[in-house]
Amino acid sequence: MAFDRRNFADIIAQFTVDAEHLREVAADFRHDMRLGLAGSPDSSLRMLPSYLGLPTGEERGDYLALDFGGTNVRVLLYRLEGSGRYEVLSHVAKPLKVSGDYDYVGGEATAEQLFDFLAGLVDEAVGGDQKTPYLLGHTFSFPSAQTNINDARLIIWTKEFAVQGVEGAVVNDLLKEALVRRGLANVTPNAVINDTVAVLLSAAYINGDTQIGAIYATGHNTCYLEPYAGGAQQPMILNMESGGFQKLTPNRFDIALDAASEKPGEQRLEKMVGGRYMGTLFDMALAELLGEQGRLYGFTSVDISRILEDQSECADCASGVVEMMTGRRLSEEDAPRVRELAHAIVVRSVRLMTATFAGTMWQVAGAGKIRRQHIAVDGSVYEKMPHVTENIMRAFSELLGEDAALVDTLLAGGGSGLGAALAAAMTAHEAQG
Ligand code: BGC
Ligand code: MG
Repeated sequence: MAFDRRNFADIIAQFTVDAEHLREVAADFRHDMRLGLAGSPDSSLRMLPSYLGLPTGEERGDYLALDFGGTNVRVLLYRLEGSGRYEVLSHVAKPLKVSGDYDYVGGEATAEQLFDFLAGLVDEAVGGDQKTPYLLGHTFSFPSAQTNINDARLIIWTKEFAVQGVEGAVVNDLLKEALVRRGLANVTPNAVINDTVAVLLSAAYINGDTQIGAIYATGHNTCYLEPYAGGAQQPMILNMESGGFQKLTPNRFDIALDAASEKPGEQRLEKMVGGRYMGTLFDMALAELLGEQGRLYGFTSVDISRILEDQSECADCASGVVEMMTGRRLSEEDAPRVRELAHAIVVRSVRLMTATFAGTMWQVAGAGKIRRQHIAVDGSVYEKMPHVTENIMRAFSELLGEDAALVDTLLAGGGSGLGAALAAAMTAHEAQG
């Protein structure tokens, strides 16, 4: 059986963001930022205060970092040495998988179980040391309402997490209690930050000219340094929760995916951009093409990257992956179409994300020119998905014209860990005083 050509062309069109639409998304994003800064309920951006500015680069000392919020949980002990230098003294990492293949933390896990699991990793990272006092920075990669650097309440789970009893709770209270249960009263969590904030801190520790940090992984989100946050004296990093941006044009696959998700109506941009969802969009479109509408094969963004891998190295990649997942053998003419579908889904994701970066830079620039800068990005999709960087640059040149030369993205690998250690260091005087 060959794909129906009209249907195939229609699906590709559904996933295409042309230059005009790209511009609209960037402008609408900027507009929502402005509304959000003014506290308007009409903004789909949360603009959450982090209570942090950028590090000086001279932070020093040993700090623990807990990085929780994606497919892996990590605890690291960092030695910050100033001048943008650091060492990792110890490192433990575990996949956060309590049940099911698609379910990182099964709905049946309780808050206590989850935080006991995290405390267990901290225990491993300090090698069972219950004496040495440690400050711990916590990268908690979910929307949280903060009243200060250490007090963060989870607003709502995203990325299909569903552990009961955490929404509305102060996450570092749950962590502290679990550490005490574990005998680790010597470990004091003193800062909670979003992973985007961590990425920005880590990049700014090492390079100048960085004011925007983003995650492009399981989930997606961006923060930036707001010069005039709430009339504060100092610039402050705001977590936009840009994955919740709503002013978009979802296609029929986006609508179906959202309806079947843990939190329908939430995280509309994230569901079009994040790695957690790209595989499902591919699934749904392919099922339609194979005449098996409604079937889910379980494609992930890792499968998509294999399908897109360089053809010279992997002549039959697309067909092989598809046959393994669906049990169907593609015809010779359909194999490149599957690749085209995967490509369209990835390119749409990249273009939408880049439009939000442009909107952010426009907002910060106000009436002036955007400044020369790096945008710090971390995450598996950014790091590993083929065609990402080139499509970011292409979208920037469509949006910014020659100013695109002022901007690039850089990989802030491991930024969610280093940023947590930096946040703990930047807050150390408060914990001691
Ligand atoms: C969360 C954000 C987070 C992003 C990347 C989203 O689902 O809401 O807080 O920054 O994922 O991990
Ligand atoms: Mg992460």
